[in-house]
Amino acid sequence: MHPTLRADLDRLPELLASARDFATRALAGIGERPVSAAVPAPDPGPLPAAGVGAQGALERFARQWEPGFSGSAGPRYLGFVTGGSTPAALTGDWLTGVYDQNGSSGGGSGADALERETLGWLRELFGLGEAHRGAFVSGATMSNTVGLAVAREWLGERQGVSVSREGAAALGPVHVLSGSPHSSITKALSVLGIGRDRLRPVPLLGGDREAVDVSRLAEALDVLDGHPAVVVANAGTVNTVDFDDLRAIAALKERYDFWLHVDAAFGAFAALSPAHAALVDGLDAADSICVDLHKWLNVPYDAAVQFTRRQDLQVRVFHNESPYLGLPTGTPDFLHLTPENSRRLRALATWFSLTAYGREGHAEIVGRCVALARRLGEGVAAVPGLRLLAPVRLNVVCLTLTEGATPERLGALARAVADSGEAFLTPTVLHGTPALRAAFSNWRTTETDTDRVLDALARAVRELGPAPVADA
Ligand SMILES: *Cc1c(COP(=O)(O)O)cnc(C)c1O
Repeated sequence: MHPTLRADLDRLPELLASARDFATRALAGIGERPVSAAVPAPDPGPLPAAGVGAQGALERFARQWEPGFSGSAGPRYLGFVTGGSTPAALTGDWLTGVYDQNGSSGGGSGADALERETLGWLRELFGLGEAHRGAFVSGATMSNTVGLAVAREWLGERQGVSVSREGAAALGPVHVLSGSPHSSITKALSVLGIGRDRLRPVPLLGGDREAVDVSRLAEALDVLDGHPAVVVANAGTVNTVDFDDLRAIAALKERYDFWLHVDAAFGAFAALSPAHAALVDGLDAADSICVDLHKWLNVPYDAAVQFTRRQDLQVRVFHNESPYLGLPTGTPDFLHLTPENSRRLRALATWFSLTAYGREGHAEIVGRCVALARRLGEGVAAVPGLRLLAPVRLNVVCLTLTEGATPERLGALARAVADSGEAFLTPTVLHGTPALRAAFSNWRTTETDTDRVLDALARAVRELGPAPVADA
């Protein structure tokens, strides 16, 4: 054994205690850490020849790289949809590395059974029936990709061809219909050989709504004249957290032949709020479902789950063929269900958080985030120069400038807020209007944090000044 490695093995307990103390200090300061990096990242250094040992590496990390890390795990980072890590989830994540199980199959371990228990809990949490089978993946993009891969195989089944054997070219033209799909949907269509351009946008309800107009969807399906299609329904859009009417879309299945994929990346968590659970009515009727876990469940990156009613088709797509294994029957190992073969036991952090806090603890996080979004929304409406672009439907506030709402001015506003270190919001465009969005999904965020976000925003608007007067 290399002497440095040998020395590290001998002092493993001290090393772990040192890492624990370092982590404790980092987390104690997370609430006051600037939301975005205060210093530029250093230039890449040379490959170490001899190495400095684990303690030396920790010290170098602390000196060189840690100062450039963002406060994205903290309470006022409201960009994108960014969760944090609950204490129990973090414990599970640490132990994932300690036990280093390969979650791809049993392989002499009960780790895959723990993953199955966790999947059953998630299914129940989101109100899904037993017909849905799931697997862990790295994020909602991968979850959407897996769901659409199963949809692609289904299209083949409808046409009497096997896409997994013959390739996507064996399919005729593919029709994918959606109202306000996330950008990861077109990325998935590209990866799957369906093609980004096959996505056909369906008109929305109008006004500030991002939900699909179901009667227009029915018309679009009608035009296909019986040709099977894929419908991507959206349960929680990123700008205004709008929800397609899942029940009404599912009811169209009686008249039209389509696969229903629902992107419920963070919207699925509406099921945990009695006041909002109706938004995901009909989710169970989907053929495939995407839910992110590193957002509103507050487990560390990277984790998401995918569910489908047609695990048989999923196995055809992802079956890891080898000379001594036939097509799996019964309960397939996870390596036959997702793009990965070997992978970490991603379920452990989720298992810990659900075991520690249960449905009620996670419902409290969801309910609090929704209340805080509403609080910020009310505050924004009262700030001169700002206005809401849509009502606060769940956990996102979508706002813009009352005057001179150009992409440049909103970008400057977002930068000024981030540079204050106080809050992080991300720019977007809603129906042509440049805007900013503040998404609440971190378990740490409090009313005091929310008021600090509002103060930072109001200050930045005042400093931005009035819109330049247009030339007459
Ligand atoms: C975040 C998000 C995704 C992509 O999630 P990743 O975890 O970044 O892959 C997809 N769909 C929706 C609706 C999202 O909010």
